[in-house]
Amino acid sequence: MQEETILKKYFGYSSFRNGQKEIIQHILNNEDCLGIMPTGAGKSICYQIPAIMLSGITIVISPLISLMKDQVDSLNNMGIPATCINSTLSDSEYLQTIKNIQYDIYKIIYVAPERLLSENFLSLLDFINVSMVAIDEAHCVSQWGHDFRPSYREIPNVISNFKNRPTVVAFTATATELVKNDIINLLKLQNPYTLTTGFDRKNLYFSVQTPKNKLEFLLDFLDKHQNISGIIYCSTRKNVDNLFEKLLANNYNVSKYHAGMSEKKRNISQEDFVYDRTEIMIATNAFGMGIDKSNVRFVIHYNMPQDLESYYQEAGRAGRDGDNAECILLFSRQDIITNKFLIEQSIDTNHQSEYQKLNEIIDYCNTSQCLRKYILQYFGENPVFENCEFCSNCNSSIEITDITIDSKKILSCIKRMHERFGSGLVTDVLKGSKSEKIKSLKFDSLSTYGIMKEYSKDTIRDLIAFLIAENYVKTSGDKYPILKLTEQANNVLFSNQKVTIKKKIEKIIKPDIQKVTKNPKENLNFNPDLFEILRKYRKDIAKQNNIPPFIVFADISLKQMSTYYPTTVDNMLKINGVGELKMKKYGNEFLEIIKKFVKENNIIED
Ligand code: ADP
Repeated sequence: MQEETILKKYFGYSSFRNGQKEIIQHILNNEDCLGIMPTGAGKSICYQIPAIMLSGITIVISPLISLMKDQVDSLNNMGIPATCINSTLSDSEYLQTIKNIQYDIYKIIYVAPERLLSENFLSLLDFINVSMVAIDEAHCVSQWGHDFRPSYREIPNVISNFKNRPTVVAFTATATELVKNDIINLLKLQNPYTLTTGFDRKNLYFSVQTPKNKLEFLLDFLDKHQNISGIIYCSTRKNVDNLFEKLLANNYNVSKYHAGMSEKKRNISQEDFVYDRTEIMIATNAFGMGIDKSNVRFVIHYNMPQDLESYYQEAGRAGRDGDNAECILLFSRQDIITNKFLIEQSIDTNHQSEYQKLNEIIDYCNTSQCLRKYILQYFGENPVFENCEFCSNCNSSIEITDITIDSKKILSCIKRMHERFGSGLVTDVLKGSKSEKIKSLKFDSLSTYGIMKEYSKDTIRDLIAFLIAENYVKTSGDKYPILKLTEQANNVLFSNQKVTIKKKIEKIIKPDIQKVTKNPKENLNFNPDLFEILRKYRKDIAKQNNIPPFIVFADISLKQMSTYYPTTVDNMLKINGVGELKMKKYGNEFLEIIKKFVKENNIIED
């Protein structure tokens, strides 16, 4: 049987995706292979189809114990005999499985790397004919990957135990040169056919947002995206628990997942989400490796992840079915401080490489270039386009605000306090607090005392966080970090270096006004800010004319105006409820308000 026939017969798909056929053919030629393909590209089929076609057994090594059973069930369902060996098997199940393997019942055996070295398994290798060893998530072999597993280093020893060396194939979504070389060298691949399918996931809309209040942003987003599946990643278990409670309280149908939960609870959570019993999964990065749920429509990172590789892997869990999906990273300066703190706290890692990775993801969050291009370049590709027109940067303009004066006030205050205090006390001095502590330290006589009294404490703290994140200020000490100035700060204070904040303003593309309908129940995605302005104006007009507001324009008319943003008389007349007479009476004033709003809010024609 041909590969295509098998694809249709067992998997029900009519054509191969990019790269699948090439890998399959090289495997069938007994060549070692390394497939570097993004999450969702369809790596499993690359080894499952040759496994069916080869004469012997295929062993698949995967770190994803939770997933093995699902994979095996789904293969069995398609009529492909498969099994798995991992720590979840009872002793009797294990012995039965080993017996069945000896009777040559299976074509594919999934094995956890930790199980490879067990006596039972090794002695089994003398009896069976293994045609191929497929290593999934092969970056786990490399310390440069984000998911290092020491047991992966044992794999080549096991392979050397075979009577006849099988074809060895490895798959990963991580494409950096360091990881790639490690995979080839450490797994001892022999002259492998290497295929990188390209990392672009055209159906994913990438977006970096810096909302003032992340929770409000999230609730607003979820309100507008109801009844669809999505994952929200948080950096810590505590954040997961907190957010879970908040979304429950807001009546969302949510699951949560983190390593602090019992295995049983985690499995229930995962199944609820995978089988669409809950719509939203809130999780740490412990969740999702290899989860085969194709209809995830959004992945939101509530906190900045550790590095771009993990980000792309996690975000890549959206839209595996090929339909459009959104990947949103919520960025705050506090995330940088937290991540720096976590790096400092870790004892046995390579701090320098961790910092480099951190800086790369901070750059991603700050860049004003196309986000897709940035990611693809990070993975070593050279995209031909300048702008993908399908990410938040291609859809935004950049507003630069000069904050040199405020920065000087803060930096000079830190200096005058002899760089011996933390951000709480510095904020109090700038705000002009009358606390005993400030009096006793005589900080109320500093020239910077009360110099920012018109600002809220939160604003001052945000500015300090920005100065730390951008390396104007560094912190030292763990429990009560002290603020100290850097060389860059001196340039600001004494050499006229400017400090600027870049803010992205996302463009809103007007929907086509020809599509306006007369359906009063239509669920419009209207702009609530414009709606409020128009409503207020309508109220004033109604009062002046002594008529009820809905006689001026009904709510549906205002909602349509806030959706389609008409700026000409012709277009205004297309709005439901705007006839010639009303247009004459009130239309022009409403038009002027909409024009002003459109100009100020970056709303553009498609
Ligand atoms: P990866 O391991 O690369 O993240 P998977 O192997 O889990 O991706 O495949 C992702 C999804 O794509 C699965 O639902 C799979 O069934 C589907 N898929 C794989 N190959 C094809 C294909 N040729 N046509 C359609 N769907 C496919």
